[in-house]
Amino acid sequence: MKINVLGVRFDNLTADEALARGAQLLAEPGFHYVVTPNPEFILAAEKDEEFRSILNAADLVLPDGIGVVYSAKLLGTPLKGRCPGIEFAEGMLAHLDNVGGRLFLLGAKPGVAEEAGRRICEKHPGIILCGTHDGYFKEDEPVVQAIQAARPDLLFVCLGAPRQEKWMAAHGPRTGAKLAAGLGGSLDVFAGAVERAPEGWQKLNLEWAYRLKKEPKRIGRMAKLPLVLVKAIKARLTGGMKEDA
Ligand code: UDP
Repeated sequence: MKINVLGVRFDNLTADEALARGAQLLAEPGFHYVVTPNPEFILAAEKDEEFRSILNAADLVLPDGIGVVYSAKLLGTPLKGRCPGIEFAEGMLAHLDNVGGRLFLLGAKPGVAEEAGRRICEKHPGIILCGTHDGYFKEDEPVVQAIQAARPDLLFVCLGAPRQEKWMAAHGPRTGAKLAAGLGGSLDVFAGAVERAPEGWQKLNLEWAYRLKKEPKRIGRMAKLPLVLVKAIKARLTGGMKEDA
């Protein structure tokens, strides 16, 4: 069952269920992709039909952040909880470690994916890091071919939204990866260049506030969080948006 939040249909799973599904997709033949929309994605998808279709066609659509969870609640169709992309990524890495799988990291500034890969392998010695590439390339084809040659099982695509989702939908199947996940700024976190909020802030659902404290220039982007909540209230009052079967 999916939960429709202002046009984006989310999988209603706990974080553990999302990981179990991710592990399953990794074992199935064919290409699959995961998206982790936050309120900013929802607003962008309202205006960009291609982006919305790509989000809704994903094999897993996970609510990244408390804004999506609150919106779903306001709409009268609550989600089981949030499932931040970075936590999904960490869980999938632990799984890949167990099965001895191959990982390719795509995105972020030059040098970041390599450092993220080095740290990931230090923590998860069972993972085979089969390649990395920065996210500031102009031509797609050489990147697709580099990934294909590296034969990854799991591919992290960290180019920022909506570029990473459009990239996965357009090129993902030709990379040969079994599972790709669009994960925004996660490589910066894995590389140690950006810190996640301390656990206390995370537990209080205030990770967004911590990020704002660290990067005040994000205020414009973050103003989208209350805007999504207001839209959800409006939709509820006008009897729109219900659960999708
Ligand atoms: N990025 C990239 N190529 C680009 C633009 C951005 O690889 O052309 C990277 C950027 O370096 C950062 C990530 O994409 O590591 C996106 O970060 P953003 O803050 O947008 O994502 P969020 O943290 O909000 O998920």
